[in-house]
Amino acid sequence: MIRYDLKCDNGDEFEAWFGSIADYDKQAEAGLVECPHCGSKHVTKAPMAPAVQTARKKAARSEKAVAMAMAAKVREHIKDNFDYVGDKFADEARKMHSGESEERAIWGEATPEQAQELAEEGIPASPLPPGLAPVQPKKLN
Ligand SMILES: [Zn+2]
Repeated sequence: MIRYDLKCDNGDEFEAWFGSIADYDKQAEAGLVECPHCGSKHVTKAPMAPAVQTARKKAARSEKAVAMAMAAKVREHIKDNFDYVGDKFADEARKMHSGESEERAIWGEATPEQAQELAEEGIPASPLPPGLAPVQPKKLN
């Protein structure tokens, strides 16, 4: 038995077992090798060695894990050091800027219009990229 990593012309990758190399050639020539995902008969042997593929997948996974761990740290930092002001963000930012209230680190929600206004007024506020905003505390109404 021989195992092939195969790839169809739609980019699906799959594996298939054949009795021998000749078996694969025969079946492929006769159009009997079919992609199990899309049914395409335009199937070729995947050029990538399985070991390389595995290593690449692992690397991609750990990069994502690192990014997620960093995001978690940032979220934690914001949660511990920033006051959540909810949708009063623009008001609070203005008050601190004008000296009406003491400067402190805050985070909350602002509409794109509010963010634009703050920028025009020269008030520093930067949007948190998705994934970096902490889970919002429950609003106390
Ligand atoms: Zn396919």
